Amino acid sequence: MTEMKLLRGVWTPWATVWCLPCDLKLGRRTTPGGRVRSLPVDFDAPVDRPDEFDGPATCDECGAMCWVRHDVSLLQGVGDAFNERTWEAPMAANLAQTGGMCCALIVTFAEPSTRTIYVTAMDGPIVIGDYASEDAACEGEATAMLEFPDGTPIPDIVTALVGVVGGA
Ligand SMILES: [Zn+2]
Repeated sequence: MTEMKLLRGVWTPWATVWCLPCDLKLGRRTTPGGRVRSLPVDFDAPVDRPDEFDGPATCDECGAMCWVRHDVSLLQGVGDAFNERTWEAPMAANLAQTGGMCCALIVTFAEPSTRTIYVTAMDGPIVIGDYASEDAACEGEATAMLEFPDGTPIPDIVTALVGVVGGA
């Protein structure tokens, strides 16, 4: 990937990606007393990739490109491309918090379906898990499970995800 300068960004407890200026604007960095905490002096300046595991993402608030954790960057890219390809279908892919600031891309279907597909990329490999219900997901009882090595191009993951969605 060619190096570029982007804003710093964060993955928030509310399952949104925010650039640091938006994080400040939306008040998360401000104490009840009005003091700003833990913000670099150049927080609104584009920077080189802060960490080798960071990737580019889009701020959900202002649309600016910003650096976030690799898995968040990847899953946001997969979700956007998936939603673009399947926009007519009665389903949607959204990023979600899965505890401990972990990130998952979750595909849900129109009622009355309880089917839920999770895409995660926590520790390297990208995993697509197809579950009959939320309970089945909690129990880890997948009806289908696909795994791809880290570095698999986003279009390939989206194609596989579309295949899993259509395969039920
Ligand atoms: Zn922003």
